[in-house]
Amino acid sequence: MGTTRCTLWPPLRGRLVMEAATERDPPRLDSAFGGAPYGWQPSATSGDVALRVLVVNSSAGHYNLGAAKLADWLKAVGHEVVTCRGDPGLFSFGYDIVALSVIFSWHAPMARDIALRVRGTSEVWCGGPGMYALQHWWTKETGLKVHPGLDARFDRQRGSYRMTFAARGCPVACSFCVAWLIEGRTFSLDWDFQPAPVLCDNNLSALPVEFQEHIINRYATSLVTLKDANSGFEPKSFDEGTYRRWEPFLAKSKAPWRFAFDEEGERDEVVRMLQILKPVPPYRKRVYCLIGNEPIEACYDRLQTIIANGGEPFCQALRPRRWPRTSSDMPIASCGARHPSGNIQTGAASDLRSLSSRQGRFTLESDLLDRQLIVIYAAAAGPDSRS
Ligand code: SF4
Repeated sequence: MGTTRCTLWPPLRGRLVMEAATERDPPRLDSAFGGAPYGWQPSATSGDVALRVLVVNSSAGHYNLGAAKLADWLKAVGHEVVTCRGDPGLFSFGYDIVALSVIFSWHAPMARDIALRVRGTSEVWCGGPGMYALQHWWTKETGLKVHPGLDARFDRQRGSYRMTFAARGCPVACSFCVAWLIEGRTFSLDWDFQPAPVLCDNNLSALPVEFQEHIINRYATSLVTLKDANSGFEPKSFDEGTYRRWEPFLAKSKAPWRFAFDEEGERDEVVRMLQILKPVPPYRKRVYCLIGNEPIEACYDRLQTIIANGGEPFCQALRPRRWPRTSSDMPIASCGARHPSGNIQTGAASDLRSLSSRQGRFTLESDLLDRQLIVIYAAAAGPDSRS
């Protein structure tokens, strides 16, 4: 855990509510703190000192399961907790600990700004999947350390959450993925997992059959409807048995089959999986498709293959680790186009022309694109990109 020092400087203590700065992504404090507004002093709790902790969802706009569990765990062990989505600005001060949870690496610069602001007066914690590949960068920028990987203190914290994990880990170890680095290459099964509307397990089809059935039964006997197995299934380990096991359960709530066609080498397995899923309507076959990792013609062909075999592609652009923060740091450009179904995310339109992954530099060969289909985020990164 990265720390500076723990102090009790209290210029701004108490219930704080900061109203929305933007409609889409309002930074705001959702205080669970009910104590006196000023002059709060730590008190002994089961032999420990109760501290004031600010838990920041640094990826505001996205539900942050880790931040929610951390806040619940901190409360459960006796600390006073204020939660916040986005940068709390002036209201960053007055806490013994400021805990920054980063889901996506492109939100790391904002976490850095908060850390630099408060590190002289608060202990700073920082973690989350978005920081895993940025540990050296974080230390260089802030002088602190990232808490890498899962945090055993609260990973299995129970509570009322929108998301859940029944198992951690993935044995496949794809080169572009950090899930297996963070969670391990062997599954750790949580037989007592708490069902939630979104199931985030990395690779459901590779789990032991007994555990797959356990997941289905646990949902079936709970009051929770599974709306989305968000990371879904993996074509290599998917077979007719997986289909028969999961389809009646998923179909009940019209939950989609999610899987990925990220590399050309997966073609045969993906097509085989799409053939097994033929009876399922296209809107329930949502196929993640990584773009930018192979020549653009190959990415385009993968997208077309998904559509030709009755699926709907969901593009995910590979962004360089040195993704720039703002246009004042270095030039940024992005471009995008929307699939007629409207299901492909797009970036802001621009006329950037080429895409390559040389030295963290992305350019886009737009002449090769069918603009109805492909979305590319592209950056013209300067030589002094962050590592
Ligand atoms: S199968 Fe999915 S979760 Fe597993 S390593 Fe590959 S991308 Fe990551």
